[in-house]
Amino acid sequence: MIAEEVSKISGENPFACFQCGDCTGSCPVSFAMDYGPRRMIHLIQLNLEEEVLKANTHWLCASCYNCTYRCPRNISFTRISYALRNISVKRGIYPNKTTKIFYEIFLDHMLKYGRFNEGIFVREFVAKGGKGLKELLRDINLGLKLWKKGKIPKDVDKIDKLDQIKKIYEACVKEEKEDKQ
Ligand code: SF4
Ligand code: SF4
Repeated sequence: MIAEEVSKISGENPFACFQCGDCTGSCPVSFAMDYGPRRMIHLIQLNLEEEVLKANTHWLCASCYNCTYRCPRNISFTRISYALRNISVKRGIYPNKTTKIFYEIFLDHMLKYGRFNEGIFVREFVAKGGKGLKELLRDINLGLKLWKKGKIPKDVDKIDKLDQIKKIYEACVKEEKEDKQ
């Protein structure tokens, strides 16, 4: 049951939600979500697993914590979003192929550089089929504007102490394996 799984991973109780809608009202990206946080929690309460996991909501969550700070029932939808991403990855369920490609590259960058590198991301995203030529041409002006403002680094940027990121990742993978046993 999705509600039980979400509770176990996130430590949150979706059944405590009384559907006031403060979370959705505070969310800066709810306009682009298939279901805003309030509706997602309702779907979780109803154990409508397929609707929940196929939604783009948890992938669009920007981790701003507005919903968490404003919830009168002390529920963190941010943590619920993380749990949903975790479950989606385990089941291989994504709202579309670009989401999957984006997060695969994101993880790869975290392990190789310790941070996301926008400059090489575009090249890798296109190579993996995340963007077609039409979409690339549509976004080219925005890319040029960002590049002119120095928002797209030319060099690959690595953090110091990258080994610590790798250790955190390996500890998570280990914990995940132990959970399965
Ligand atoms: S703010 Fe809290 S109680 Fe209100 S709908 Fe969102 S999760 Fe439920
Ligand atoms: S943490 Fe995510 S779901 Fe919550 S308000 Fe921010 S973007 Fe929206």
